[in-house]
Amino acid sequence: MRLGVDIGGTKTAALVLDPVGEVVAHVTAASGRGRDDVLATAVGVAARAADVVGGWTALRHVGVCMPGLVDPVTGWARSAVHLDVDALDLAGEVAAATGHRPGVDNDVKAAALGAVHVTHAGAPSGRTAYLNAGTGLAAALVDEGRVLRGAGGAAGEIGHLPVGTEVPCSCGQRGCLETIASGSALHRLWPRRPAELFPAAAQGDPVARDVVATLARGLGLAVQVLVTTGADLVLVGGGLARDRAELEAAVRDELVAHCRTSPFLARLDLAARVRVLDGAAPLAAIGAALLPTPVTA
Ligand SMILES: [Zn+2]
Repeated sequence: MRLGVDIGGTKTAALVLDPVGEVVAHVTAASGRGRDDVLATAVGVAARAADVVGGWTALRHVGVCMPGLVDPVTGWARSAVHLDVDALDLAGEVAAATGHRPGVDNDVKAAALGAVHVTHAGAPSGRTAYLNAGTGLAAALVDEGRVLRGAGGAAGEIGHLPVGTEVPCSCGQRGCLETIASGSALHRLWPRRPAELFPAAAQGDPVARDVVATLARGLGLAVQVLVTTGADLVLVGGGLARDRAELEAAVRDELVAHCRTSPFLARLDLAARVRVLDGAAPLAAIGAALLPTPVTA
């Protein structure tokens, strides 16, 4: 059995996958703040999940993911700003507390493995992109079951491609893709509750329709970037995927409209290559359980 821990900005989740990849334990708690608190919460949640299946000795593998720059080889995590963690020997500390040297990675990269796992049921084929539309917008690519890293681990970080709006972005640029296709974009553009967006658009509310069109344009562009850099399939998750069916329809309509005006895009068959997943599914924790164990221990 494999245990995965996802240290999120607000919630820390631990789950156990049985030998056929089904979730058999799932425990969550509010995330800590600061190095020691983040770690204590993660280990505590992991211990409760481990207890469900008979304790640490019942586990073959442990994996942990968190936001920020996470180096799977050294095991160190850096710059997890929302957790107030500057630097942390994530793998070393978890190994000391649990007796298992964990596989570690960034949360979006882990979620990409989780997304492939839940959609291919353990038989990944081809190259799949996972697009996480959460507070920010980030993607990760999985090729034959392995996460692609790229320079500085930045493969798939398409949320900071400037697309020409003048909105300042958290990264220091202006007009990033993230500023039109993310939870923070929705928060800025739509003054009402997120859950009211699609019903309002369906009733013809012009502001809601504009916001849906903007989100769909941004996500459609993200899909186009990912497919033209080698992905066969783009799986969309994160908080924006809460209205799964409506979001998928909006993005597909956008892509179909683009393909009508461009034979080049039509050949890429973009609309058929996007699938929105259940935004509430614990993809990062599932992916964490599947992270490879580092070769250096
Ligand atoms: Zn940016």
